[in-house]
Amino acid sequence: MSAASSSTTGGRRRIRTPGIPSRCWCGVGVTEIISRSNPNLYHRYYRCLFATSQRLENDNHVFKWVDEPMRYSS
Ligand SMILES: [Zn+2]
Repeated sequence: MSAASSSTTGGRRRIRTPGIPSRCWCGVGVTEIISRSNPNLYHRYYRCLFATSQRLENDNHVFKWVDEPMRYSS
């Protein structure tokens, strides 16, 4: 029996983007959403699932745009 169990990684992450918390401060997970409204049509953002389900506005829950350039095939 050796003590060579060093490659233990804890926890799984749904979201790979660094700087984005996997959970909101309220304890609910954060998800990625695609905007369906102008002027940010199809713009992706991270949002607290609770705020999403409650359709909250002007709240303090997680909200962050995904700053990812879109690729247009020419
Ligand atoms: Zn929240």
